[in-house]
Amino acid sequence: MATNKVIVIGAGATGSFITHDLASRGFDVTVIEKGNIIGGTSGKFHGMLHSGARYAMNDVKAAQESIMDNKVISEIAPFCIENTGGMFIALNDEDLSFKSKFEEGCKQSNIPIESISTESALKEEPFLNSSIKAAYKVPDKVINSFKFITSLLLTSKRESAKILLNTEVVDFIREGNQVKGVKIKNNNNGQVSELKADLVINASGAWASKLINDRLGIKSIEMILSAGTMAVINRRFTKHIINRLREPSDGDIVVPFFNDSIIGTTAFIVDDPEKFDVDKEDISFLQKSGSEMVPILANYPVYRYYAGVRPLIAIGENEDSRKATRDFKIFDHSATDNLNGIVSIVGGKLSTSRIMAKEIGDFISTKLNSKEESKTDKIKLYWPQINNENLDEMSKSLSVDKGFLSEMINESAGKTYSDMYSNALDVLYSRMLFN
Ligand SMILES: Cc1cc2nc3c(=O)[nH]c(=O)nc-3n(C[C@H](O)[C@H](O)[C@H](O)COP(=O)(O)OP(=O)(O)OC[C@H]3O[C@@H](n4cnc5c(N)ncnc54)[C@H](O)[C@@H]3O)c2cc1C
Repeated sequence: MATNKVIVIGAGATGSFITHDLASRGFDVTVIEKGNIIGGTSGKFHGMLHSGARYAMNDVKAAQESIMDNKVISEIAPFCIENTGGMFIALNDEDLSFKSKFEEGCKQSNIPIESISTESALKEEPFLNSSIKAAYKVPDKVINSFKFITSLLLTSKRESAKILLNTEVVDFIREGNQVKGVKIKNNNNGQVSELKADLVINASGAWASKLINDRLGIKSIEMILSAGTMAVINRRFTKHIINRLREPSDGDIVVPFFNDSIIGTTAFIVDDPEKFDVDKEDISFLQKSGSEMVPILANYPVYRYYAGVRPLIAIGENEDSRKATRDFKIFDHSATDNLNGIVSIVGGKLSTSRIMAKEIGDFISTKLNSKEESKTDKIKLYWPQINNENLDEMSKSLSVDKGFLSEMINESAGKTYSDMYSNALDVLYSRMLFN
């Protein structure tokens, strides 16, 4: 059994899955997150568990990884997924000219797609633009990232991982060319302390490059910070996620996220993942683009908008972030920067977080001489199930009155995730991370 101490910086989808992967292999893991659950990009995205079809035309590896993890994540965490399915629709002749490229890309990436008649598409989705010229069904799904990441962390905790939320890595412990741990600040009380480890994994998403550049002088990670805005309409009009049949571009997705419709997105480069402005014109642009696919969206106000930052790897001189790969890369700083004890992982998608975790887990196991293999494709993630038998025990463990808990469970039964009681229960369960 491996007993090496590993620190993971960042509890977004990437860091949380790495924590689970390593803890289930027997490593002594601590994950450190400066904010709360889904404070980073993993809380500011479209909410899709990608089939990969969106990337099949130009980014085959990312597309193949997406369909693989789409299947596995649906098996291990069904409680946070709605199997909406996805539809790609052509609205004009230019979109139609992508048919063969789309079909070929999906075939090459093993993504099962189905060409359907425009009549059946409109029958299934009566709010679609009635002049659509072609339609395909793809296995896109919707994922609730709060539940997904909370369940990864709860599972990791049961595997003995330590979870430090609201705790920031402010510096590294370095001796010569060896990183020996991190200096952390408790963001609740400002207390600073040290944590030693055999290996530190930098999984801090859009912050990854700046963190190690500022604190360790490492310049080998080149990233593109590509922000994207999403506009939300407080009604749901489609069963499927609707995608425009064309190269990934601005305003080409409508996601039925539980009771809402999320229209996405844009792509603009930012310098700092926490300091950038959303252009208000993008909001009306998104509503206009979304309503080209689902016209009724034009009749409802945008009730909120938000923006996230894609932590993309920069390859070559690619300045257009739409064309940058959605694949990921592991940086072994002992090879690139002559600094041992630290590894970074950058890029990918929330939808491919399991494969990312497995690959870096394999890499680290080799580095630390462990023979334990990844088991995360088979481990069902933990999500609390409360019933009459364990109501007493759960009310004690959650510090909630038994009658109140029972009422919340009855009220939320069979409802969607956007229901008030279901959301409150999700947040309540996340408190188990602190027990
Ligand atoms: C507009 C948009 C739409 C997208 N849509 C989708 C989609 O539909 N499906 C999909 O699969 N992907 C989508 N993505 C991509 C996906 O959201 C990201 O790839 C993924 O969430 C990145 O996860 P992460 O864990 O690497 O980063 P994050 O979620 O950002 O996690 C990094 C964490 O590190 C923490 N951190 C940073 N510095 C420190 C420090 N010093 N100490 C401690 N903690 C620190 C941060 O607080 C943060 O929580 C989208 C992205 C964008 C921007």
